[in-house]
Amino acid sequence: MHQYIAGQRSRGSSGNPYDVIDPSTGETVETVELADADDVDRAVAAASTAFGEWSRATPGERSAVLTKLAGLIEAEAESIAELESKQTGKPIRLSGEFDVPGTIDNTAFFAGAARELAGKAAAEYSPDHTSMVRREPIGVVGSIAPWNYPLQMAAWKVLPAIAAGNTIVLKPAENTPLTSLRLAELVTEAGAPAGVVNVITGTGPVAGEALISHRDVAMVSFTGSSPVGRRVMELASGGPKRIHLELGGKAPFVVLDDADLEAAAHGAVAGALINTGQDCTAATRAYVHRSRFSEFVDRVAELMAAVRLGAPLDPATDQGPLIHRAQQERVAGFVDRARGYGARVVVGGEIPKTDELIRGSYYAPTLIVDVPQDAEIVQREIFGPVLVALPFGSGAAHQGGNDPDLDEAIALANDTPFGLAASVWTRDVHRAMHATRAIRSGCVWVNDHIPIISEMPHGGVKASGFGKDMSSYSFEEYTAVKHVMYDLTATAAKPWHRTVFRDAPPNEPHPLAGA
Ligand code: NAD
Repeated sequence: MHQYIAGQRSRGSSGNPYDVIDPSTGETVETVELADADDVDRAVAAASTAFGEWSRATPGERSAVLTKLAGLIEAEAESIAELESKQTGKPIRLSGEFDVPGTIDNTAFFAGAARELAGKAAAEYSPDHTSMVRREPIGVVGSIAPWNYPLQMAAWKVLPAIAAGNTIVLKPAENTPLTSLRLAELVTEAGAPAGVVNVITGTGPVAGEALISHRDVAMVSFTGSSPVGRRVMELASGGPKRIHLELGGKAPFVVLDDADLEAAAHGAVAGALINTGQDCTAATRAYVHRSRFSEFVDRVAELMAAVRLGAPLDPATDQGPLIHRAQQERVAGFVDRARGYGARVVVGGEIPKTDELIRGSYYAPTLIVDVPQDAEIVQREIFGPVLVALPFGSGAAHQGGNDPDLDEAIALANDTPFGLAASVWTRDVHRAMHATRAIRSGCVWVNDHIPIISEMPHGGVKASGFGKDMSSYSFEEYTAVKHVMYDLTATAAKPWHRTVFRDAPPNEPHPLAGA
């Protein structure tokens, strides 16, 4: 029973079973029945029916559901973290200390934010009218999520949408549907009417495309790769529908000559390897000042070599497998091709062959140097535990004044199609300020890389998409702004009518004028 529609688990009607695989062993966690267009129809109908009641609920009523939901997730935190690790292969420390607590905090945030969602206060911008702005839900939102953080991605889609009074049909990635289904059940248990959150588990080309194209879906919110994002835009143009796209990344990691090298090396390893590098904001391109380059490379290699690969549910594991064999082959392909064009693999660059790891889709933490800026490994998203390091600058330390080395680093950081996240490592506040302004991305960290918080927006520019997840900014995606204007004159012949009725008598003084 792997569709969640109108508050009930039900079967998918495609007749196609699909095995959710544990990527650390290749064994089946659960077999789901995939959804087809009929299931999408049923889910959209349920969401449309629920929209009337849910959109009229007061902010306080919606907030109460979300507050209860946060408590329900917390009560099941351990089992949800375990399920997340089983379907993705991510280490239990990551799902237990990041994914699940992050989701609880997000839920609590939106419980509060739901009550603060306001339009602009009423005012007389024309002497004859009072204007006010209402922020209203859009309707049924069709959301499509990726497999790298299934629970958090589901939460980032569901929470702002329903906090603002929309209803939603969510399609998780077909290989990681299990925690999204549980989240939807908990929303109903928390008191939301049946149909407010529906989950269909199906493939992109079948269930995903049917959802985006459905005529009763008013908005599409998509997180995934840039090529599929382009397809989503094409399909949504038929509406046309509001779209929100969170796409790929290729985050630069800029280390200036004055940086704390030990902090930068730790930051690079954590930032590159989190979630086995399957993180849209992962550190992927380290640009390191030439005067510190070999020191940085040696220390990163040392730290990477100490990272423990292992079973996802073992608390000692630092890095789990990649999501599936195809991803393992993709990552290995990038590294092998880089060797072919002269890259040096400093550490890693191989599929571990130990008895413990051979059944899973593991890949060793990898550091690569000696590649040009235009190499595919620098330009394209790999989505694996691979960091590329490139030197920049003259080799001489910065002495103040003009800063051509920093300008060069910024130009390199900006030189990919993506613009999701970046970091800069320096002890100089002026250089940090300059870099954070000049780097084109949705987020720039200074002396850190990866942390996110519920109150702050997440989203990209350029080929990384548009629109924001998390924070109150996400309400700009999930609400429509309506201008409501009240006439104050209470007259049949209004002052502005003279532009149409040329022979109308000059207007009487406004009844409120001078009052
Ligand atoms: P993907 O684009 O292959 O798939 C994402 C989702 O789209 C899945 O649910 C998939 O079934 C669906 N899909 C595939 N083809 C479709 C189609 N033709 N029509 C409709 N839906 C379709 O991405 P992925 O491999 O699951 O995830 C990795 C990608 O997601 C990376 O590029 C990563 O950077 C990106 N990502 C971005 C963010 C962000 O916030 N910007 C967050 C996480 C992941």
